[in-house]
Amino acid sequence: MKLSERQEQIIELVKANEPITSEAIAKELGLTRSAIRPDLSILTMTGILQARPKVGYVCMRNSSKNSSSGEIRKIRVRDIMSKPVLVKEETPVYEAILTLFLNDAGTLFIENDGVLLGAVSRKDFIKMAMGTADMHRVPVGIIMTRMPNIIWVSEDDSAFVAAKKIIEHQVDSLPVIRREGVDGKEVLKIVGKISKTTITGIFVKLGEDE
Ligand code: ADP
Repeated sequence: MKLSERQEQIIELVKANEPITSEAIAKELGLTRSAIRPDLSILTMTGILQARPKVGYVCMRNSSKNSSSGEIRKIRVRDIMSKPVLVKEETPVYEAILTLFLNDAGTLFIENDGVLLGAVSRKDFIKMAMGTADMHRVPVGIIMTRMPNIIWVSEDDSAFVAAKKIIEHQVDSLPVIRREGVDGKEVLKIVGKISKTTITGIFVKLGEDE
């Protein structure tokens, strides 16, 4: 059975915190209890999770201690993330390309006061270069992929969740996001990045450790 992204996230949370109540799961995900109820039903009906009255949910799925899939689920994004290369929305495309080269990056993230606004990749720049627009004038904000269309992970997600998102959404890099309250509103601040290189690095390390 193919599980949804949210169901995989719930399994990760339960594995890391079991026993954990549905209230606590909902809180961690920034959702209401009723929003996750159908997911919890599916996960208990399929025997992946078990609901223990007055205790909370525990995970019944095998996770062999020494298997690399078990290991990759235990590694947290916060422990492997690297520094994102950031530019402002108004930065001219030409300058953004220089930043990309100088930082040996493949994707730049666009922010304002730490809040994630978008992402721009090598191919976005190539597309722009094939047109006639003036790279010295056009701001990067015009060509970036914008929120809410950015795929991201949280610091508490596992390396497995990050790798799965990279593969499923066919992107090279994911921003790592922390939810923060600013003036009574929730904003998504960028605190790191996970790239295909990060995941390949873990893969190599697990291979060497075996
Ligand atoms: P490239 O195609 O340059 O090798 P990507 O595959 O990462 O790099 O990017 C493909 C497209 O997806 C680009 O248009 C880019 O703006 C966008 N993109 C890059 N990262 C993300 C992300 N984390 N979430 C959503 N879209 C992204």
